[in-house]
Amino acid sequence: MHVPFCVRKCAYCDFVSSPLADAGGLVPSYLEAVKLELERAAPRIRGIAPITSVFIGGGTPTCLPLRELESLVAMLAQSAAQAPGATGEIEFTVEANPATISRAGLSRLRRAGVNRLSIGVQSLDPRELAVLGRVHTAEQALSAVDDARAAGFENISVDLILGAPGQTPDSLRRTLAGFLALDRPPEHVSAYCLQLETGTPLERSVSLGETTVPDADDTAKLYEVVVEALSRAGYARYEVSNFALGGRECVHNLGYWRGGMYVGLGPAAHSHLPSSLATLDLGSAAATEPMPSWVRSWNTASTQEYVRKVMSRESPEDGRETLDAEAEARDRVMLGLRTAAGVDLHEIDAECGTDLSASLMPLMRERQTQRLVEIDGARVKIAPQAMLISNLVLVDSLR
Ligand code: SF4
Repeated sequence: MHVPFCVRKCAYCDFVSSPLADAGGLVPSYLEAVKLELERAAPRIRGIAPITSVFIGGGTPTCLPLRELESLVAMLAQSAAQAPGATGEIEFTVEANPATISRAGLSRLRRAGVNRLSIGVQSLDPRELAVLGRVHTAEQALSAVDDARAAGFENISVDLILGAPGQTPDSLRRTLAGFLALDRPPEHVSAYCLQLETGTPLERSVSLGETTVPDADDTAKLYEVVVEALSRAGYARYEVSNFALGGRECVHNLGYWRGGMYVGLGPAAHSHLPSSLATLDLGSAAATEPMPSWVRSWNTASTQEYVRKVMSRESPEDGRETLDAEAEARDRVMLGLRTAAGVDLHEIDAECGTDLSASLMPLMRERQTQRLVEIDGARVKIAPQAMLISNLVLVDSLR
């Protein structure tokens, strides 16, 4: 579920989110619409059973009024619980900005059923935070982890940015050390490279020469700093940019990388479903024929348009792409190769009804001689030392 509001816009952000000051009036109608969309999505949600994860992201979900966020959590938890086949506790994540949470509020979210908190930190360096336009301080970021612990969260993730203006290996080491020195460091770290998105204030400032960002080589060094510091602290890199302690990999993201089914709700939310489910609306029965194709679809990115459509009982879908079995299988290879476990080409062929391994294996063997991938039977994975240039291999898989 996508929440399209933030306290204010960060300098580098082109996600679908509006500052509350500009969009505050839209919050009640957004909440009404997203609840209605959730109700109408019930048949599709039941169709993807068993549900393994729920994720409320954004934007900044925690900038919503707490009572409203609790109510969304309760509705989603109930919807997931009603889907058949659920076993045990599912992963339920909410994204949070350190400036928008309190210990008491986090306790309420925990009681409502949220069991994983993903805290957007990006850096603990005050200058980096300022140039990125973050609304929180380094102290607030560290307190957020402590508050989440006190509220009973056993599964906490922090997001970091690599390649922020002025960031150096030393400043990044200090950021990492800040978290690793906590009594209980976060179980999960995501470290993504900064993308200069066209039209953002940071991109304009860089193109005018007012601000400089680390170049590709320097960013590669920053990545190595993260890999080294987190490995030393016991984290496993299970995906190019994601690290987990004690097996706390993100179930939700693994679902994306393994080609799983998902239903997205809210403006700009994406779904990935077999075609038999993608067209299901309230009241119709799930089709039982084999799955000949897959559908990726996305909702309109305009919150106003989203609200208007949902409230007038129209679909908020803005576009869709139908993938035949071959395209679906190639997508799964591309996504799966991001993970340290890689992909089993025979498994993907069996799931999609394709014969992709026959055409891909020669390419992969070529990459193996270049020490870019490792092959074990039908399983192919990016060689650890090649994670940084893994895109080369990903492109191969799509040829
Ligand atoms: S908090 Fe996240 S979604 Fe909101 S403006 Fe900043 S980067 Fe974008």
